[in-house]
Amino acid sequence: MPELPEVQAHAERLTASFAGRRLQRFVPLTFTALKTVAPRPDDAYGLPLERVGRRGKYLLLEFPPVTFVVHLMQGGRLHVDAKQSAKPRGGQARFVFEPTDDDPTPPALLLTEQGSERRAGVWCVPTGSALTSPPLDSLGPDADTLGGDELAELLAAAPSTRIHGWLRDQHRVAGVGRMLANEICHRAKISPFAMSRKLGDGGAAAIAAAMAEAIADGLAVEREREAMSSSKERPSRVHHRTGEPCPVCGDTIRAVEYSSHTVNYCPTCQTGGKVLADNTTSKFLK
Ligand SMILES: [Zn+2]
Repeated sequence: MPELPEVQAHAERLTASFAGRRLQRFVPLTFTALKTVAPRPDDAYGLPLERVGRRGKYLLLEFPPVTFVVHLMQGGRLHVDAKQSAKPRGGQARFVFEPTDDDPTPPALLLTEQGSERRAGVWCVPTGSALTSPPLDSLGPDADTLGGDELAELLAAAPSTRIHGWLRDQHRVAGVGRMLANEICHRAKISPFAMSRKLGDGGAAAIAAAMAEAIADGLAVEREREAMSSSKERPSRVHHRTGEPCPVCGDTIRAVEYSSHTVNYCPTCQTGGKVLADNTTSKFLK
């Protein structure tokens, strides 16, 4: 799933290529692509795209007074669509722009979603209240804005849970997914299974610093690209690196598998050398 750095760099790319273009029409390609009834997409027709913003892992296509909020979920992508074929593979919705004298056949933007989950979608909301309307109203603060003190307050205010899961809960902090959670815990030298309310101010400061670094590094790489990276293309120290040596200490990167994701960690850096039970392996041993 694209996380904060990928979505942020993509928003910047789309702003550079599409700002100023006027929306001709919004075309849902499936019955589930548009999640809202009012305002109607038609209210943005003829209006110029001011910019593409980002909140958490959402893209915001701003045609004031109307904003389209796009969530890519797991396999969704918002592609520059030059061909505009009638039945694009995985097509969910298309933003078609008005031709101009300089560009008589402008590209569209096509929301696709591969796989069977069909959870990517578009919310059409008033620009002025976009951040306080669903789906953005329930998000925690953006991960790239959090200092140690604010993170300590957030950790203290929420029920205690494993920090890896806490970081991925978009209601707590917005923009972190499976990869960043692995990378942040490793950089902070904190166990992904540490309880969130036991980290204290020192733990919060370490997590906040690691979060800022991991996001900045991801952004620097992603900004060099012409299109959004796939998960395997993103540089990582522990994520997707089970069995490889830790780049910090040389110990072997370990994994704990869940149905939806894998937690990767370095025992020497993060758990005092302790190797945690890998529930996939132990399942086979039973
Ligand atoms: Zn290590």
